[in-house]
Amino acid sequence: MKIAVPKEIKNHEYRVALTPTGVRELVGRGHQVTIQTGAGEGAGFPDTQYQTAGALIESDVASLWDGAELIVKVKEPQPEEVERLRADQTLFTYLHLAAEEELTRGLMATGATCIAYETITAPEGGLPLLSPMSAVAGRMAVQAGAHSLEKAQGGSGVLLPGVPGVAPARVTVIGGGVVGENAARMALGLGADVTVLDKSLPRLDTLDDRYQGRMKTVFSTADTLDEAVRESDLIIGAVLVPGAAAPKLITRAMLADMTPGSVLVDVAIDQGGCFETSKPTTHAEPAYVVDGVVHYCVANMPGAVARTSTQALTNATMPFVMALADKGWKSALAEDPHFLSGLNVQGGRITYRAVAEAFGLES
Ligand code: NAD
Repeated sequence: MKIAVPKEIKNHEYRVALTPTGVRELVGRGHQVTIQTGAGEGAGFPDTQYQTAGALIESDVASLWDGAELIVKVKEPQPEEVERLRADQTLFTYLHLAAEEELTRGLMATGATCIAYETITAPEGGLPLLSPMSAVAGRMAVQAGAHSLEKAQGGSGVLLPGVPGVAPARVTVIGGGVVGENAARMALGLGADVTVLDKSLPRLDTLDDRYQGRMKTVFSTADTLDEAVRESDLIIGAVLVPGAAAPKLITRAMLADMTPGSVLVDVAIDQGGCFETSKPTTHAEPAYVVDGVVHYCVANMPGAVARTSTQALTNATMPFVMALADKGWKSALAEDPHFLSGLNVQGGRITYRAVAEAFGLES
C-alpha cells in the first residue's frame, strides 16, 4: 500500500505520525512509505533516517497527498488538508470530531474513510491511543508544577522532595485515572507527600493496592477538596467525565484558602479545566497568577516533549497502521471490533454515534 506521512501544520505541533523504525517495519512488509520533507525534524528524526529506513522523501505537499492510499497523521486535518483528501483515501489520525462541526462536515464531503485514534478501544477497556498521551501529560504535570513552585515563577519557593530536616511538599492529584496515576507516581518518585482524590472507589482501591499505601487515597468530596486546598503546595487537576466538560472543583473563592505561591496544574484544561480560574495557555507562556496562586494550564502538554510523545504515540498506533496497510481498511476493521470503533466518517456518512448525536446527524 502507498502510505504518506505529511508534516504537521497545526501551530506548535512537532510530533510526527511514523518514526524511522515504523517506516522500516512497513517497507519490510512490502509497502511504500513517503514522508514529507522535514516531517520528523521537530521530533528529532531527520529525513536521512527515514531514507535509511526505506522511505521516499517528498517536498511537494500536493504530490504527497495525491499519491497516497493511506495518510497517517497526528492532529486533526486543517482546512487545507481536508481539501486534499479524496473518497478513495483512508485517513488515520486524532480527529476529536464531537467538538468540531465544520471539520466533521468537511470530512463527510470528501467521501474518505476517516479513522480516529481517540475512539479506538481495547479488549481490557480504556482508550489505548489516548492513554500514552495522558501518561506523558501526567508525568509532565509534576515537572511543570515543581518549576512553577520556584520563586522566580511566582511560586512559594518549596522544593518538592524537601531535604533532610525539611518536610517534602504536599501534592494532591484530583482524579486518579491515567493522567493522575502518572502524576502521582512521578511526585512519589521525587519524594513528595502525595494524596490522590477520586470519585471512583474501585480506582482508589487499585491505586492503594498498586502503591502499597505509599500514596494516600481519599474519596473526593467537597470536604476533602477544601482540605486539599488548605494543605497542598501543588494541586494537579486530572479529572475526566467522559463526553462532558470537566467539573469546576476549585472555585475562585477557594483560592483564598491556599498558601500564597501554591500551584494549580490543570491538565483537564483540554476539557474546559477543573478549576474556575483556569484558562488555556501555551508552552510559550504556560503559567499565570490569580489571587497569589500560580496556574499552569497548557492544553497540549505532550507537544513540549515531541520526541518522547512521538515514540509513545507511534508504539500504540503502529499495530493499527500495519493492519490497515496489510489488509486494507475494510478487512482490518471487520476483523477487530475495537479498531472498528475508531471509524468516524466513511463514504460521506458519520459512522460514530456520539459524533452524529453532537450535530443532530444520522449515523
Ligand atoms: P481517565 O478517565 O483515565 O481518569 C479520569 C479520572 O477522573 C477517573 O478516575 C475518574 O473517576 C476521575 N473523576 C471524575 N470526576 C471526578 C471528580 N469530581 N473528583 C475526582 N475524580 C474524578 O482520564 P485521563 O486520561 O487521566 O485524563 C484526564 C484529563 O486529562 C482529561 O480531561 C484529558 O482530556 C486530559 N488530558 C490533557 C492533556 C493536556 O495536554 N492538557 C493531555 C492528556 C490528557
